[in-house]
Amino acid sequence: MSPSAVTSLVDELVRCVRDVYGTGPIPLHRPVFAGREKQYLMECIDSNFVSSVGQRVTDFERGIAAFTGTRFGVATVNGTAALHAALRLAGVASGDLVITQALTFIATCNALAYAHADPVFVDVDRDSLGMSPGALERWLDTHAERRDAGPVERSSGRRVAACVPMHTFGHPCRIEAIVQICGRWGIPVIEDAAESLGSFVGDRHTGGFGVMGTLSFNGNKVITTGGGGMIVTNDESLAARAKHLTTTAKKPHPWEFFHDEVGFNYRLPNLNAALGCAQLELLRPMLAIKREVADAYRRFCASHGVPFVDGIAGTTSNYWLNAILAESREERDEILRRTNELGVMTRPAWRLMIDLPMFSHCMHDDLANSRWLEDRIVNLPSSVPDRDIGRLRP
Ligand SMILES: *Cc1c(COP(=O)(O)O)cnc(C)c1O
Repeated sequence: MSPSAVTSLVDELVRCVRDVYGTGPIPLHRPVFAGREKQYLMECIDSNFVSSVGQRVTDFERGIAAFTGTRFGVATVNGTAALHAALRLAGVASGDLVITQALTFIATCNALAYAHADPVFVDVDRDSLGMSPGALERWLDTHAERRDAGPVERSSGRRVAACVPMHTFGHPCRIEAIVQICGRWGIPVIEDAAESLGSFVGDRHTGGFGVMGTLSFNGNKVITTGGGGMIVTNDESLAARAKHLTTTAKKPHPWEFFHDEVGFNYRLPNLNAALGCAQLELLRPMLAIKREVADAYRRFCASHGVPFVDGIAGTTSNYWLNAILAESREERDEILRRTNELGVMTRPAWRLMIDLPMFSHCMHDDLANSRWLEDRIVNLPSSVPDRDIGRLRP
């Protein structure tokens, strides 16, 4: 596109964003509190149960499990902690390899590093933005072999201990194919579903396909607890171990302090869970409104010949963070520069994990689609618009 064509495209894009969000600076994603948040927080304070004990944690865990159609939820202080604990529970140990994607938020790889494991980066699909089953299978066929103790990477003999696909911006990846491939290799799948609360494959919620899924309730996610996360699973013994490991591994007893392993203090405080309970009551209308925002962007893109990142067939996205694709890196940068200058916050995708100093030594495939997407993705404002807040009723 010529520079002047880009300029006029951006001006029309800004007009589209302002039609939805109005005047003033427009953030990328901000939380909305339109339900019983204050009431539940006040009740929590009045009851004195603000910290590590309280009914709201259990209520929130049950609520999220019910919404996601999983049997159990274990709340944690944030999504990174949920991932770290889930990796430990899946048996990931020091020196192991874990297959994941290079197009992800840093938290995915930080959790792997906390577990003293190294990521292996396989490519994503251009349409889903998530891990490519084809790339996963190619990497395994080329580099892995089955041994008695499980699959290992051939040249190093290191165990391939888990696979962590991520549902990018809320769009479900091809999780069923990934679970099938990993099943053939005996590799447990942990879904990083931090961005995909409210996203489904068919009628099954993301996070429920692998042995465990992890969610985040950070301030920029679909709903927030201030900071928070959760492990969801259908496995009762994993859920019990998750609760134990994230609450200092204390054996239940009326007065004795006996801890049977090095546990984490990853439990979500009752105050944060109270906020989460109120937010969860707004989730369905929030998702409906976010879908309307996506509809507006999709219409804009269709009439201006701009590729809109939409979910793949057979899936329902929560449209956590909408994205368009520029024609080139240069065009992406020009769109970012001009929209931000005009008070509309837009962002590129994360730098690929393989290009960060801590992970540059890690194994990877050609990452061609990851690089192609990194050059082109522009995220657009995606919050619930002010004008629609009145429609959020518990
Ligand atoms: C938000 C997020 C997390 C978890 O983040 P926390 O801030 O620790 O809750 C993990 N993975 C991805 C992909 C995320 O976007």
